[in-house]
Parts: sequence; structure tokens; C-alpha cells
Amino acid sequence: MIKTKNQNNKWIKLICGASNEDIIAIEDLCAIYTAAGVDYIDVAAEESIVHAAKKGIEWAKAIFKNNPGLMISISDGNDIHFRKAKFDPINCPPDCPRPCEKVCPTSAIDNFGVKESKCYGCGRCINSCPLNQIYEYEYNLSKDDLSLTLQKIKPDAVEIHTEINRIDAFKKVADILKSSETKLEKISISCGLNQSMKKLQQPKDLLKALWERYEILNELNIPLIWQLDGRPMSGDLSPTTSRDTVKLFESIGSDLPPGLIQLAGGTNEKTHEFLNSNNLPDGIAFGSSARKIMQPHIEFANKNNKRLYEYPERMALAIKKAQKFLEPWKMSQLK
Ligand code: SF4
Ligand code: SF4
Repeated sequence: MIKTKNQNNKWIKLICGASNEDIIAIEDLCAIYTAAGVDYIDVAAEESIVHAAKKGIEWAKAIFKNNPGLMISISDGNDIHFRKAKFDPINCPPDCPRPCEKVCPTSAIDNFGVKESKCYGCGRCINSCPLNQIYEYEYNLSKDDLSLTLQKIKPDAVEIHTEINRIDAFKKVADILKSSETKLEKISISCGLNQSMKKLQQPKDLLKALWERYEILNELNIPLIWQLDGRPMSGDLSPTTSRDTVKLFESIGSDLPPGLIQLAGGTNEKTHEFLNSNNLPDGIAFGSSARKIMQPHIEFANKNNKRLYEYPERMALAIKKAQKFLEPWKMSQLK
């Protein structure tokens, strides 16, 4: 029997598939963590990334009978998840051997430059250009793109990345979700205290912002997840970063609007230990820390341009490691 997502109403989410990640690594990570039993996989709202994630999930689903839900991340402002590459072909010498084109894993580059719809921002081409012609820009889905992307990808859930002061932009994204025919099982709202404004933004400001968003989304009648980002998108891997996440949860967790609570941003192998086991959040999301422990395995396979699952012994080791990493949370799900 295929185990469907979130049977216990407690879940573990893998965050992967933002820009600057290798598409093969995304496939491998999704395969490893699906096999290890995550309940959701969160990726950028980009078709090539979703395609890679689904390939990894399908591989593991066939063997391990786990079936995580697919969550896509969108932003109501500059999307820190997502960048694309660009250059002006007019500036390219006609005799350039075009290394940029050769390194691009999605054949996004041709004589006319970078095809935006095919680029997922891995950044490989940037370093390949001997004339430094290629640069990255932050990419935002336009209103039309977002509706179309939802239709094409049909995600199980959406996560909206927002910031305390972006209420008008948030409303616009919410309106698109309201008019979309895509049936979502959950909507997650990711908001943290902006690090650069830390002195100005207090937990009470965050609470007020989340209640405002609750008023906007409530009519949708879709379960809401409040994702508390201890250190939003920091990629900080030190074990103690968990303390910020746990501190935020403990200070405002009980005052959040109705819905479920998920911790992210700084979560790692220490997070469970730091939390009071009688007061655990509904969901936990792992990004950098889950990726880091898999890096040696994935690199081993990817340097030969292979997927890790093409090396069964190595894959088995990676899955075991992932299971160990998730173990405290899996145990909590059983309670
Ligand atoms: S165009 Fe550049 S950044 Fe975009 S997918 Fe290709 S190599 Fe990666
Ligand atoms: S490598 Fe640089 S100069 Fe050559 S075609 Fe690509 S962008 Fe142009």
C-alpha cells in the first residue's frame, strides 16, 4: 500500500530545488528523502525543477511506497528562492566556443541568449563565460505566470514567502490562489523576522502580520500552515541556529492564528532536542542541513553524471543516513 502524505497530521518536509542547486542533485535528494519517509517536498515553482523532483519521488515511490505531497514555493516579493541567468548575445564574439551553452543542463542557451522558461538558475553558465557576460537576476513569477504555473504543476500545497511589510503584495498572490482552480490541500505562509531589520521587527510585529494574512486567506477554507522561520533562508548550518527557530516558536507559537505550525530556517539535527517534547510543532522543514549530509553521496554519483540510485549500495547508505536524521521526528509521529 502506498503511504499517503501526512497520515498522522504531523509532517516532515524536505526543502529543496531552489536556484543554484544542481538539477541532478534535486532528483537524488527527492529520491533519498522520499525513501526515508518525508511527507512533503517543497520546491521552487519552476517546471524543470518540479520535473526533476517528481522523477526522484517516482523512483522511491515504486520501491518504498511512500508518496510525499508536492509543495511549491512562491513569493509575494523578490523571490530569494529563485534566480535566472541572462546575457546579451550582441556582446559575444562570433568565434566564442560557447562554453556557456555546453555546461547548461537544460539547453536553455542558444544564439539568442538564455531562454527564460528553460533556465532554473543553477549558475553553471556564469562561471563558464571567459568574458563575464552572464549575470543572475532575481526572478518573480508574474500574476499570469503564477496562474499558469499552478495549472501546469498542480501542486498539493503552496507556500507563500512573505515579509511583514508586504501585505499589499501578499493580497495579490492570495487573489490568484482564490481564483485558481487548482485544489490545494494546504497553504503555508512563511514569514520571519527580517534579519537586517531585527532591531525594528519584534515577534509581536510578526504575529500582527500573520493575523492579517489569516484574515485574507481564511475564506479559502484550506488548512493554513504558519511556517516560523528562525533564520529565513540563511543556509546557516551551525547546530545552535536551531535555538532561534525554537525561541520564536516558544515565544509566539500559542498566539498564532488558527492553523498548523511548521518550523524552518535554521532547523537541523539539534532542533528536536531543543524543543520541549510535550510541545512539538505540527510540521518540521529541513533544507540545508538535510542536503549537507547527503552531499558526499550525491557528488560521488553526479561527478560521473549519474543519479545516486544508479549506485544501489551508495543509495542504500544515503537512505539509512536520511532515516537516522529524521528518526526523532518519525518517532514523534508515532505517538
Ligand atoms: S542558463 Fe545558466 S543558470 Fe540557467 S539553467 Fe542553464 S546553466 Fe543554469
Ligand atoms: S561563453 Fe560568454 S561570450 Fe561566449 S557565448 Fe557564452 S555568454 Fe557569450
